Amino acid sequence: MNDLTRIPVREQEPEIRAGNFEEVCLGYEEEEAVKEAYRCLNCKKPLCISGCPVAIDIPAFIMEIQQRNFPKAYQVISRHSALPAVCGRVCPQETQCEGKCVRGIKGEPVAIGKLERFAADYALEHGISPEKPEKTNGHKVAVIGSGPAGITCAGDLARLGYEVTVFEALHKFGGVLVYGIPEFRLPKEKVVEKEIQKVQELGVKFEKNVIIGRSVTIDQLLEEDGFEAVFIGSGAGLPRLMGIPGENANGVFSANEYLTRSNLMRAFDSSYDTPIAAGKRVAVVGGGNVAMDAARTALRLGAKVHIIYRRGEEELPARAEEVHHAREEGIQFHLLRNPKEILVDEKGYVCGIRVIKMELGEPDESGRRRPEEVAGSEYVIDADTVIMALGTSPNPLISSTTKDLNVNKYGCIIAKEENGQTSRENVFAGGDAVTGAATVILAMGAGKNAAIGIHEYLTKQEEKNEYTD
Ligand code: FAD
Ligand code: SF4
Repeated sequence: MNDLTRIPVREQEPEIRAGNFEEVCLGYEEEEAVKEAYRCLNCKKPLCISGCPVAIDIPAFIMEIQQRNFPKAYQVISRHSALPAVCGRVCPQETQCEGKCVRGIKGEPVAIGKLERFAADYALEHGISPEKPEKTNGHKVAVIGSGPAGITCAGDLARLGYEVTVFEALHKFGGVLVYGIPEFRLPKEKVVEKEIQKVQELGVKFEKNVIIGRSVTIDQLLEEDGFEAVFIGSGAGLPRLMGIPGENANGVFSANEYLTRSNLMRAFDSSYDTPIAAGKRVAVVGGGNVAMDAARTALRLGAKVHIIYRRGEEELPARAEEVHHAREEGIQFHLLRNPKEILVDEKGYVCGIRVIKMELGEPDESGRRRPEEVAGSEYVIDADTVIMALGTSPNPLISSTTKDLNVNKYGCIIAKEENGQTSRENVFAGGDAVTGAATVILAMGAGKNAAIGIHEYLTKQEEKNEYTD
């Protein structure tokens, strides 16, 4: 081991973890974290910070780890992020902070994500709290959705003194962190629930089972319930399908439904009676994090699993670590392949999936090379279950029940990137509801910008009222 390589992190062995839902990555012990922290050069112009959408002071918290001031390391992070134990586990650091780290020019970048996780886990285990707001300013703000965008916006507004209520449609808080990302990557009780408790400690109120647009509308919150501004962080939970023959057969699922059954309703846990079609031969269509999670869940439920993705290795949108772990666990990758038809038996059940080989042509509007079919190259993969992980769009419930709220042709709410302002003056939005399916840290960045936007808006309103009184 030298300065060019990072301290390896402990993980469950692939053959053991493929049969359980325990966390795969075990994180750093204290000595390992301190050693890795010493690889940081404490750069004068830390490029890592520019790669972080919530601008965590990365060298500052790493220096605290070097000095073994672990509670302080957490407090430095918590000024910028309400969910560091989550981000340390699921952020695509390789394309963000670590992608910019100067250590990466000659060797491996500093393991910023694993150090963030270490400091955050230390705080969760030792009951260390984030710095608290001084006093409330009496202004009420409503936040819709308790995913990373909503939680971040709520936490930042509470720090600024606002009285914030988060309204969540489901019976658990956390959005995709609880219903999408599996337990083996992101433990719910140990990590997600505890980080949300810390936001509650800042004074944020959380109300579950409230569907905005059905239980109450945004117009009512603003006009009748005394809220002066609203942030919409309702995500993008509506699954897309391909429109190929056989998609309505028994045994075809959207990844959302499949993962929700397993995560939120704990179908993987034998003490719960939630049914799930485990399947023996499962084909997952897609190459993002959602596809990897669905595939690795199916594997743990006992299936032989194939991933079918229409582009190549370099274009796989999933985090590098997830692809690596999926391969180690024995999942078969069929790259440059596209489904043409789901084969259905006489009883209406899936019995295979017919795919065609693809090759990459000229770049398309996304900048990636467009996959094109290779004529006459079709073949069948044997499968009894097909899981579609092709992306999601926002549910139209909120946009269709709110006055003057504009959406684009994909149903995403139109909001300014710098402050989340929508077409309606006192309504702000951010996260997947605006961008379509993206990442935890981008949703958090949007929640943060919107908190500043709301604060500026309400401060101006107050000044106007003082002037006219
Ligand atoms: P969400 O997390 O979707 O939260 C929205 C919340 O709003 C939900 O709780 C929903 O119930 C609630 N809501 C919706 N409508 C209403 C309503 N009308 N009234 C009240 N509440 C409402 N990103 C990464 O960075 N790394 C990963 O490894 C990763 N893996 C992923 C794996 C899966 C399986 C999935 C599905 C996504 C993954 N992502 C990952 C993406 C990431 O989780 C999302 O981009 C992020 O959660 C978006 O945050 P959000 O707050 O905008 O929305
Ligand atoms: Fe440390 Fe890398 Fe950031 Fe420099 S760029 S301060 S080495 S983490």
